Parts: sequence; C-alpha cells; structure tokens
Amino acid sequence: MKRRADSSKVSIVVSVYNEQGSLPELHRRITDTMGKLDNLDFELIYVNDGSTDDSFSIIRSFVETDARTRLVHLARNFGHEIAMTAGLDHAGGDCVVFMDADLQHPPDLLQQMIREWISGKDIVLTRRTDNPDAGWFSTLKSKIFYKLLNTLSDFPVPSQFPDFRLIDRKYADVVRKMKENNRMFRGLISWLGVKNQVIIDFMAQPRFAGKSKYGTKKLISLALNSIISFSIKPLRIASYIGIIAALLSIVLGIIFTIDFLTSETYQFTGYGTTIIMIIFIGSVQLIVLGIIGEYLGRIHIEVKNRPLYVAELFLNDSVAGNQQNTMH
Ligand code: UDP
Ligand code: MG
Repeated sequence: MKRRADSSKVSIVVSVYNEQGSLPELHRRITDTMGKLDNLDFELIYVNDGSTDDSFSIIRSFVETDARTRLVHLARNFGHEIAMTAGLDHAGGDCVVFMDADLQHPPDLLQQMIREWISGKDIVLTRRTDNPDAGWFSTLKSKIFYKLLNTLSDFPVPSQFPDFRLIDRKYADVVRKMKENNRMFRGLISWLGVKNQVIIDFMAQPRFAGKSKYGTKKLISLALNSIISFSIKPLRIASYIGIIAALLSIVLGIIFTIDFLTSETYQFTGYGTTIIMIIFIGSVQLIVLGIIGEYLGRIHIEVKNRPLYVAELFLNDSVAGNQQNTMH
C-alpha cells in the first residue's frame, strides 16, 4: 500500500561517538538531501553517546539553529546499539532511519530509501558492495565474525548489511518492546521476519574523519553477545562435548581392559596417558563451565532490569519544554 508523503514524518537517528570531524559535513548533507524531498516532514535526532571531543557542542549548535534537529545526550558511553535504542525511543516519525555519523552511510541514499518506504515497503535495508577503507585484516576479522555468528545463531545475519536502515513505525514499536540490555539491531530486525522489505546496494564510503571505534576486542564481544542473545546452541554444543568425552572414555576403558587381559606386556601404563586424560577432561569441563557462565552472566545483567541508558533531551528553543531527562 502506498503511503502519503505530505502527511508523513521521517525520523533520522544518528549515533555519535567522537565524530567532531564529520558532523558539520554530515549535517549539511542530510539537511540538503532531505530538503529535496518536498512535502516531507522530518526530524533529525543525534544521539551523543558520551563523546569526549567537541561533538556535544557542535550538535548543540545545530539544535539552536534548526527546529527539526534534536539531541539525545547520553550520560556516558553506552555503546552503539544502546545509542540507536535511545534514538529510537525519542523518534516520533512514521518511519525511523538509522545511520552512522562518519559518512560511511551516504546521506544521498536517504531519498531512495524513503521513496521505497512511501511506495509501501516496511523495512529498507542497505548492502555495502565494497569497502575501500578495510584492510585485509579487518576484512578477515569481519568474515570470521559473520561466519561464527551465522553458524551459531538461530537468526542469521548476512554480512555486508550495515546499520543503515529504515524501519516503519509499526515495526519500530515492536523493536521498542524488546527491552534486553544485550542487543544487536541486526539480529532484532532479522528476528522480526518481515517479508515486505527491500535491499538497496551502495558503494561503501571511507570514513570521513576520525577512527573506527570497533577494535578486535569490541568485535569479539559483539559476536559473543549476538550469538548468546539469539541462541542457546552453545549450551547444546556443550552437552554434546560432554557426551562425546564420556563415550571416548568408555571406549578407551574397554580398550585398556582388553589389552590388560589379553597381552602379556600391558602397553597403557605410566603417567603419560593419565595426565593427558586429566588435562583433557579438565579443559572440557572448564570450557563447558565457561559457556554456562556466559549465559549466567547475561541473565545476571538482564534480571536486574536496569534502565538501558540515562539521557537528557535538547530541543530547539522554539519547541515547548525544551529540555528533559529520560531513562528507559
Ligand atoms: N558509535 C557510538 N557508540 C560507540 C561506538 C560507535 O555511537 O560506542 C557510533 C560512531 O560514532 C559511528 C557508528 O556508531 O557513528 C559506527 O561506529 P564506527 O564507524 O566506529 O564503526 P565501523 O563503521 O568502523 O564499523
Ligand atoms: Mg564507520
């Protein structure tokens, strides 16, 4: 079903962590592009995720000069996924677009994405075709990341789909109901199972300024989080490892006994085999305990049911009640 552009409002959510170098250019390009879409109302929500550079004051100056811009100022760095959540919570549009602040997601694409939504699509995803910024190491890293993720997770996330997407209000509301602390938007969207979606290909752009915030450590923790929050397969694998180890020890026991009873020179003596078996079983137990611990730790975090973030909202002076504190 076609949507009406003249009575619709689009929310654009941009998560920002130390992006002072890109912000002015980003802001100019987004407002330019959106200006070309006649009759369409929009709001631009910057989420400042505890930046330590000048990002905050730069965004404040955007808010002061433009009534369509708002700033959700998080009290500290909560991470990209929570920053996007905070933006979503403050978005009032009929659809919500998420994008990065480093201009790796070209603002020009907004027009095409919004047109797809107006023509009736519920979700518009984007796919990167090439990443000129990535060296072989980071390409390898992201290959391993997605391979691991898709083998172990129940909701596969294809690679090359960045956090640049449009979600219709009705699904945005469903995503808002998911209150888990450990979240990964890509997984949540794939969990929705929406069929009425479209994919737009685009050429990946190099970062406009600054450095990527995803080092190897963060990537590993993101992979672990997304596997564990979308699947209990690792627990099952742990049980399988236990069963295999048990079978192995029974088989070995039988072989040793037969050998002891039949051969004159008993081969399996000495500390060697004993020590290896103890180490083997010991490590299997530690691995399994570790996997259980990963789940337990997350349950520990989730049952506390803390708010996901602490934020202050800054609006243009012309908008009534222009500052408020929010916690979700
Ligand atoms: N980001 C954020 N909080 C963080 C880390 C990153 O809001 O803790 C933002 C960052 O400013 C950028 C986006 O998330 O707009 C993606 O981060 P980055 O470009 O560093 O990731 P990459 O593109 O290298 O995967
Ligand atoms: Mg980036």
